[in-house]
Amino acid sequence: MISQKKEKMEKIKCPQCGLTLIFARHIEAEMKCKRCRKIIRIQKETSEEHAQTELVK
Ligand SMILES: [Zn+2]
Repeated sequence: MISQKKEKMEKIKCPQCGLTLIFARHIEAEMKCKRCRKIIRIQKETSEEHAQTELVK
C-alpha cells in the first residue's frame, strides 16, 4: 500500500507584528503586511518545515 505524505500548509506570519500573511506549502515571495506595512520576504521549500521570513527595507 502506498501512503502519500501530504505536506501541511504552513501559516506564515509577519515577523514584525504577527499578522497572518498567507498559508502556503511552498512559496518564494515578497508581501506587504496590511497591518504594519512592512515588506516581508517569504521563502519556503516544500521540504522545509518552517518558512523563512525577513523584513525588506
Ligand atoms: Zn506586520
